[in-house]
Amino acid sequence: MSDKFYTDLYINSKWIKTSKSFEVKNPATGEEITKVSFAGPNEIELAIQSASDAFKKWKYTTAKVRCEKLMNWFRLIMEHKDQLARIVTLECGKPIKEALGEVIYGASFVEWSAEQAKRIDGSIINSPLANTEINVSFEPAGVVGAITPWNFPMAMITRKIAPAIAAGCSVVLKPAELTPLTALYLAHLSELAGFPEGLINIIVGDAAEIGNRLTTDPRIRKITFTGSTKVGKLLLTQSAETLKKVSLELGGNAPFIVFADANIDEAVAGLIICKYRNAGQTCVCANRVYVEESIYDEFAAKLKTAVANLKVGNGINEDINIGPLINAAGKQKALNHIKDAVSKGATLYFGGKDMEGQFVEPTILTNVTDDAIVSKEETFGPVAPLFSFKTEDEVIRRANDTNFGLAAYFFTTDYKRIQRLKSAIESGMIGVNSGVISVENAPFGGVKESGTGREGGQLGIYDFVEAKYTMNKF
Ligand code: NAP
Repeated sequence: MSDKFYTDLYINSKWIKTSKSFEVKNPATGEEITKVSFAGPNEIELAIQSASDAFKKWKYTTAKVRCEKLMNWFRLIMEHKDQLARIVTLECGKPIKEALGEVIYGASFVEWSAEQAKRIDGSIINSPLANTEINVSFEPAGVVGAITPWNFPMAMITRKIAPAIAAGCSVVLKPAELTPLTALYLAHLSELAGFPEGLINIIVGDAAEIGNRLTTDPRIRKITFTGSTKVGKLLLTQSAETLKKVSLELGGNAPFIVFADANIDEAVAGLIICKYRNAGQTCVCANRVYVEESIYDEFAAKLKTAVANLKVGNGINEDINIGPLINAAGKQKALNHIKDAVSKGATLYFGGKDMEGQFVEPTILTNVTDDAIVSKEETFGPVAPLFSFKTEDEVIRRANDTNFGLAAYFFTTDYKRIQRLKSAIESGMIGVNSGVISVENAPFGGVKESGTGREGGQLGIYDFVEAKYTMNKF
């Protein structure tokens, strides 16, 4: 398959080349893939104005029209899914099968949002006042400023853009500088899908400058961000002056708990997918693995056998399970977490080798102590730290001992325990006997410092609308 890259900014349905550009590199090889145009103040202004003009028309379109355009986009994404998956692997490094999974997962949000466009219904409320009727409707929030990360270059975009368009909003998107090519290919497909001028605008440039403009410009009414908690807090602060509606999908520190009554093979399989997918660079990946003392050794041994089968290398090859980390800093962070845990008494039970390039060998640490950095911070690498616990109360306390609350997982066959833990664990999403939790029909999002707002499911669309009620006297 020959690769076709779109390398200019996409504003008002036009491809705009700028005099300044930046390199996009393949993290598996370190080689340049291509160069992409870099947005300056003029392009940022043009993108905001184009989205603002488009909104004035798009907000009056019918749900049927919005649905049709999104369905066109969905079908085109599915037709081009192999090409998109290649671009995802080339720029972000994840194994090609995972990249294809991400494209199909990302497309499912477009299809779901197309369907939801028709269901943003209002209501009529019984009025407490005589001869009056109250009716409630939902109107599009306005122009949306969206900022996305590199670890899901496709799905984090469609999860925002599709519901925004379904709700009647227009969008200015800033994808991650490391992975703009998937975003620009999606823009090309939106053009084929017949999106009107200015409905989506894609700019890449200085992140702080674009972030500042999007959060402070009064023409933008809604900010939706996926990325680190640090940047999320900054965007929230910056949005305060113009009091925008803000949704934040931020970092996690997911506990993964295995009780002695669990099916150990299922728990191992769940951890492999949850921890090692995208080389551990997912916000919902298990960061702390708590295993009940009586099955600790058995679980660790079975996990070691499974991890030993994971093949590390350039993800463009079909047989690879673990690709590179996104950059040198990401690799160094994972290696530092391993070193720190070992210095505090953990055992390097498997892997841990610093490999050539940006690769890190999939790693298991045992006897990890609670003062290790891995128990406090997202590692974002293929490192599974195993902690041991004795009682349910103890593990709940330790699982909740974090400022984050995005995802949590537990494995047990005791149905009463399942009910207790579902209430006790402080997290926006929980996998019970499952290492996979995200689907388009469910509301994705976190609590505590993992964010605010939900993407997908029935609730997702409501992040892009405002309720309006009218009191009618007759
Ligand atoms: P990041 O540094 O926060 O970057 C995310 C996006 O924000 C990128 O587009 C980045 O642009 C931009 N950005 C950086 N500094 C900015 C600023 N001052 N103002 C405005 N935008 C700015 O995060 P990351 O390292 O790329 O992504 C990993 C993080 O995302 C992890 O913490 C992960 O848990 C989280 N994540 C969360 C979810 C979720 O749904 N909760 C999903 C995926 C990832 P540049 O690329 O140009 O720097």
